[in-house]
Amino acid sequence: MKALYYEKLEDDCVKCQLCPRECILKPDQRGYCRARENRDGELYSTIYAQISAIALDPIEKKPLYHFYPGSEILSVGTVGCNLSCMFCQNWHIAHDKAPTRKVTGKELVELALRYNSIGIAYTYSEPLIWYEYILETSKLAREAGLKNVLVTNGFINEEPLKELLQYIDGINLDVKAFHRKFYKEICGGGDLEVIKKTAVLTVENCHLEVTTLLVPGLNDDPEEIEKLSKWLASLSPDIPFHLSRYFPQYKMDLPPTDVESMLEAKKVAEKYLNYVYLGNLTNADRNTYCYQCHYPVVKRSWQVDVDLKDGHCPRCGVNIPIIL
Ligand code: SF4
Repeated sequence: MKALYYEKLEDDCVKCQLCPRECILKPDQRGYCRARENRDGELYSTIYAQISAIALDPIEKKPLYHFYPGSEILSVGTVGCNLSCMFCQNWHIAHDKAPTRKVTGKELVELALRYNSIGIAYTYSEPLIWYEYILETSKLAREAGLKNVLVTNGFINEEPLKELLQYIDGINLDVKAFHRKFYKEICGGGDLEVIKKTAVLTVENCHLEVTTLLVPGLNDDPEEIEKLSKWLASLSPDIPFHLSRYFPQYKMDLPPTDVESMLEAKKVAEKYLNYVYLGNLTNADRNTYCYQCHYPVVKRSWQVDVDLKDGHCPRCGVNIPIIL
């Protein structure tokens, strides 16, 4: 499939303008993400409609906690990524040669409807480099009354993002750290300012939740968590913030994040944000509590129970913005 967002250059070269890497590719060359290729002076998506993983997941697994709690969503992923985080938790599909099979957007929508999914989540590897397929499928899904969700690193140029956001209902944005060096040295690129812009545009257009994987000694300093939380709160104190536990993966062999430092990070974040959750942690409290009176408005165990009165806490009456 011919790619969107690129510029033709001299000598049959092309410049991809999907993400800020703006790879300049000679004929037969692929971009950093491995998902786009110069064929005779035109840019093509090499992963259009190619699926490496598919499952019907609880929405809480994305994680999205304030977006149709208790529902299930058809989740799909492809291969490749425009970052190369040393701790990648999905490196088999992001950076290795995983097998794929073709599923058209129409087939995906039919599957979502057949299994009573609330919609389609584009997840597992980085969905933004799957741009053409997602744009087309999300339009079809919207027409069929389904929701579209992205679980993404947010590293994309503004123009394609704005076009895509018209069809997206919810995003879980991975903010890797709140300092630029981490992106450069640990993630092989990326740019915190671009990710922040993605967050701002998302808040203006659809539902946003944020996840940060806490890597010991690299991004879990309470001061850094404080700055990140303060900035998120400046967008909205109601943005759900997921602090996730790191485990050794891919090229990183640091020990798993200390539970004490996760609890400390949660305490710091809660000074600014109304809803902070710990993830990847056995026995973590996954309930949502009213930030004013601490009444459990969503209980999450083997099933999910929502106890809201017209979007408000049934005990103290404060507004709890959860999409139902
Ligand atoms: S989407 Fe891929 S090919 Fe395009 S600029 Fe980004 S990394 Fe390069």
